[in-house]
Amino acid sequence: MKMKPEQLELIRKQLKRLMAIEDGFYAKKLQGIDVDSIDSQEAFEKLPYSDKNDLRDAYPLGLQAVPEEEVVRIHSSSGTTGTPVIIPYTAKDVDDWADMFARCYATAGLTNLDRVHVTPGYGLWTAGIGFQNGAERLGAMVIPMGPGNTDKQLKMMEDLKSTVLCATSSYALLLAEEIAKRGIRDKLCLKKGIIGSERWGDKMRARIADELGVKLYDIYGLTECYGPGIGISCDYEDGMHIWDDYVYCEIIDPKTGELLPDGELGELVVTTLVKEGAPLIRFRTHDLTRFIPGDCPCGSPYPRIDTILGRTDDMIKVKGVNIFPGQIEEVIAAIPGASSEYQFMIDHINGKDLCTLFVETIPGANKYAVENDMKELFKHKIGIATHVMPVDLEDLPRSEKKSTRVFDNRY
Ligand SMILES: [Zn+2]
Repeated sequence: MKMKPEQLELIRKQLKRLMAIEDGFYAKKLQGIDVDSIDSQEAFEKLPYSDKNDLRDAYPLGLQAVPEEEVVRIHSSSGTTGTPVIIPYTAKDVDDWADMFARCYATAGLTNLDRVHVTPGYGLWTAGIGFQNGAERLGAMVIPMGPGNTDKQLKMMEDLKSTVLCATSSYALLLAEEIAKRGIRDKLCLKKGIIGSERWGDKMRARIADELGVKLYDIYGLTECYGPGIGISCDYEDGMHIWDDYVYCEIIDPKTGELLPDGELGELVVTTLVKEGAPLIRFRTHDLTRFIPGDCPCGSPYPRIDTILGRTDDMIKVKGVNIFPGQIEEVIAAIPGASSEYQFMIDHINGKDLCTLFVETIPGANKYAVENDMKELFKHKIGIATHVMPVDLEDLPRSEKKSTRVFDNRY
């Protein structure tokens, strides 16, 4: 994606400020680099990436890039996998985030007459409060529920006539099933769902949309970069618009770190343009996506990235092509006779990588047609050939973990 002149200006301004901070995170990281030499996209692309581990090393407040009196709040990424990352926010950061989030809601067609039911959690995490501030900025009525207590959720949803549900996909599914079970859909006023960006399959998406009878929107974001709300899908459901007046995006090959051409799948790297409390320069998100080339029919001037297809840690390289479980699942979802369970095996035989896709079929499906259709679509969508072995429903072992569906037997 081509860097706009105004983005380059903001990046240069930010770099100058960061490099002048004595003992600052980026002053140390980019030591020896002459900021004046960063005068083009090409020069910018030579700067080193930053990663979650670098940010963790700055714990607790090493990322802070403004004087103490300007910090009004901190958020933190979850510490379940180690030391958390603490992100300080200035009043302007909080303000900018609310503006971006309000823009997300407006893109989804919300107005100040909507009643926004917020179920993501509140606290150190950026979720709940982000959804709330954005809705308030838009002038809508917020119902700040937080997660849990399904009975109370449904009562409030009914009594207060919530029109918009904000949730993770798994919680939205749980609520949708409960609403169906209780037969109370007709008593609710839900029109739209704003769903957090964890990866979710098309089949799950269709179930939530059907059972709730709402239009769904994918919202994107990460704690290190404000939080949810830096982009959202529109009515055309073809990727998420990213607010490129706040965030500059790049897509790289997660293995080599090389920039990829527009349209190719890789890791999203973000650079903040106006963040004060803790700016990011070329931060690796580990989220897999691609730029969607061309203009969106909705007329939005903001560029699009695809729905998040997974994490870079799930990536495998076969016959020189990077592939991800999410892509295999997309192919399977597109074949009518196939069910959702599969196993993908990669072997190395006679000096060649050999792929085999075992896939369960629905009862009565024509296995021969499933095999042929899937072979063809796999080659077309993913770019490599695979053998396809259709099996009966429940022939494959069940596992809670997605990762055990791909078996790399090459090494
Ligand atoms: Zn659009």
